[in-house]
Amino acid sequence: MKVKKFGGTSVGSAERIRNVGKLIADCKKDIVVLSAMSGTTNSLLEISGAIEECDRKRAADLIDSLHDKYKATIEDLYATEDSKAKASEILDSIFDELRMLKEKHFSVALEKEIVAKGEMMSTNLMNLHLQELGINSVLLPALDIVRIDVHGEPDEAYISNEAKKAIKEASDADLYITQGFICRNERGEIDNLQRGGSDYTASLLGALLGAEEIEIWTDIDGMHNNDPRFVEGTTPVHNLHFEEAAELAYFGAKILHPTCILPAREHNVPVRLLNTMDPSAEGTLIENKLEKNAIKAVAAKDNITAIKIKSGRMLLAYGFLKKVFEIFEKYETSIDMITTSEVGVSLTIDNEKNLARIESELSQLGTVTIDRDMVIICVVGDLEWTNKGFEAAALEALRNVPVRMISYGGSNYNISFLIKKEDKTKALRLLSYHLF
Ligand code: ADP
Ligand code: ASP
Ligand code: MG
Repeated sequence: MKVKKFGGTSVGSAERIRNVGKLIADCKKDIVVLSAMSGTTNSLLEISGAIEECDRKRAADLIDSLHDKYKATIEDLYATEDSKAKASEILDSIFDELRMLKEKHFSVALEKEIVAKGEMMSTNLMNLHLQELGINSVLLPALDIVRIDVHGEPDEAYISNEAKKAIKEASDADLYITQGFICRNERGEIDNLQRGGSDYTASLLGALLGAEEIEIWTDIDGMHNNDPRFVEGTTPVHNLHFEEAAELAYFGAKILHPTCILPAREHNVPVRLLNTMDPSAEGTLIENKLEKNAIKAVAAKDNITAIKIKSGRMLLAYGFLKKVFEIFEKYETSIDMITTSEVGVSLTIDNEKNLARIESELSQLGTVTIDRDMVIICVVGDLEWTNKGFEAAALEALRNVPVRMISYGGSNYNISFLIKKEDKTKALRLLSYHLF
């Protein structure tokens, strides 16, 4: 059994849904995870934004125009009037629910309920399309299967049990369709796995159900060696170790959700990145194999804040770092990069929610300096410390870029640089030019 995930662009129109239909028509007992049609999640967030601003008229107009888009998709997608009627009935009821939700007071929980409709729409459209083709596809409701705990972490035992139960109940199905991204939280409310989270759903299901492979189908032929949105002439990397892919995803390679490699790595299930627009392209295979002596790819993570704590008391003192880390733990803020010297420590965070309180507590330990709008550039490959020259090559490429922090040796797979936001594109291009 394989888990196959198709992203928003892959199901972004009636034609693309038909195209995915062809790609999965022969799947026997596979689980197909779908995102919302491209643009839908953003539209739903806009609707929720209008509700937050108490602009019900705008919310109603946005719902109507999204509904019109889906009516046109239904017209285009199905061959028979019977299928069109079935699809309209389901979609109309989802839109009726949206119209009801728009009358409620705004809350984060309401926003999550609204945003979850996108994946409900796409999966219902696909399910009916497959049934029209004579395929016995069955919808597995992600809201009954995927649950996160109080820390926002997936509850793996629950997911595994519920997924197995749902599959067993529909054991005569040809294939299963489920919603990516959406889940429930520990209170039973509708929640999600963060933007881009459909990859994470696929990886969790693939890992927990012991799939033979997890396929992530998207709009590009695999993981490229640099970010194609900023650098021209990037090329696909055909093989990546789990650790390399995890570093790239965490440090900004948008093709993968930041944490989606973790479950696959833990359960040793290979992940293959494939292109819906070019299904015969080789793509990228991510598994537990390392290609020796190679720099593989570069990625960038935006919206980073650097914090420096300088203290005379750090000199020869033990326990200083513990005190620093305890403050970040208290405010549930994770640290990405860290460098130390005799008199101070610099670290980075990507979440400023509690920054004022963190800053105030850190000031009791030393002088605090904060640099905002920074970017982490991450170079990934076989960077084991005994390999000579790789870190020098990366540094040489950035000779003319001011670098605020460098982190190397934390793993065998990455070297990271912290630079200013305005130097990001230049740095990515220089690294491609010098390294590949
Ligand atoms: P989906 O909607 O299918 O989940 P995403 O938009 O989330 O697709 O991810 C695919 C996009 O990721 C590509 O179109 C590309 O612009 C972007 N991307 C960023 N970095 C990389 C990279 N290193 N390799 C491939 N794609 C990347
Ligand atoms: N639809 C969600 C998003 O746009 C989840 C996903 O596509 O993976 O972020
Ligand atoms: Mg994505």
